[in-house]
Amino acid sequence: MGMNETPSANRIHIGIFGRRNAGKSSIINGITGQDLAIVSDIKGTTTDPVGKAMELLPLGPVVVIDTPGLDDEGELGEKRVEKAYQILNKTDLAVLIADGTDFPKKEEWDQLEQPMLAQFAARNIPYVIAVNKSEELSPQKKEQIFSFLEKEEKKLFVSAKSGQNIHALKECIAQLAPLAETEKRLVGDLLQPNDIAVLVVPIDSAAPKGRLILPQQQVIRDCLEAGVTAVVTRESELSETLRSLSKKPKLVITDSQAFEKVSKDTPPDIYLTSFSILFSRYKGDLKQQVLGAKALCQLKDQDTVLISEGCTHHRQCEDIGTVKMPRWIREFTGKDIRFAFTSGTQFPKDLSKYALVVHCGGCTLNEREMKYRLRCAKEAGIPMTNYGTAIAQMHGILDRSLAIFKDTDSGLGQ
Ligand code: SF4
Repeated sequence: MGMNETPSANRIHIGIFGRRNAGKSSIINGITGQDLAIVSDIKGTTTDPVGKAMELLPLGPVVVIDTPGLDDEGELGEKRVEKAYQILNKTDLAVLIADGTDFPKKEEWDQLEQPMLAQFAARNIPYVIAVNKSEELSPQKKEQIFSFLEKEEKKLFVSAKSGQNIHALKECIAQLAPLAETEKRLVGDLLQPNDIAVLVVPIDSAAPKGRLILPQQQVIRDCLEAGVTAVVTRESELSETLRSLSKKPKLVITDSQAFEKVSKDTPPDIYLTSFSILFSRYKGDLKQQVLGAKALCQLKDQDTVLISEGCTHHRQCEDIGTVKMPRWIREFTGKDIRFAFTSGTQFPKDLSKYALVVHCGGCTLNEREMKYRLRCAKEAGIPMTNYGTAIAQMHGILDRSLAIFKDTDSGLGQ
């Protein structure tokens, strides 16, 4: 990803759903036509449907996800349908496409389309129904379909072939887009203009050659937008950096893995937190994840902890989830803990067998998916935390890492 592209996790995710013959791909190609520049393919895990990062005018940067047909059959087909349902976890708005020339009868609709619509409603996903192949439909047929869809608020006839109403579909999508860009800040609301924030960034094998990883770029950008001076250093130079600054920095933000050393080197009158905790507040639920970290103290022998990662390549996380986190948790609790692991789009529906979920920072997941996972845990009554918050707890510096949120009354709720 280039430095100037909107990170995919921050783009509005548009899921395109429908049966195999409904014309999903041709509609996507239709809206991709003139106003849409394809920036790149975002490869999910091997079995994930592919999302395309695009500029969709008049909406802006989006990811369009083509999903498997709802009527796919056979054992593999069923797995693919399941994938389509999983995509809902990250869908910000949806387009349901139906083939107008072979419009489903009520029983068929109730079997495939209606359950999907029910999911949209249950998850608060705004949607539009696009009835494709309108060029082949008689006025009577159109009327029949429209009266069938009477209760649906947003619906329109489109033709991927002739281009009819494709522009209207794009406008409709733009109207549905949740007034997305909220005023949420990563760090800017915690600081004042002209404050100094020191960012501690380890340059090790996990760091991509020649550049900073995405969370670091985003924090720097947010500091700059807030008029905050961002000073970037490695953990080995932190003491010297702090000594050389003539004005005391307000906040030190570190990579979680360097917490222990950074905490020692940062004087107590300077706030300290981690990138991971900032992101937990930004697109998760910091309060829930802090409670989850505290639950580490209640683990018992034979408890199973689920370690869940948002992607399967872990370039930035290497062996934290698989090796370090289990070791740290065993050492911290002194208990014989068992571990289970998931990665990518897999996230178990049934969490009841776990005593705790420890999630990665989820840098590749959008806010909706992260919140969905947190909600699953909350509803199952299972504590859930993330790497950074758990590491702070295990190093005994969680309270220190949260002080800036408490003092500025941001992010920890009541
Ligand atoms: S934080 Fe999660 S999603 Fe991001 S690179 Fe690490 S494992 Fe992947």
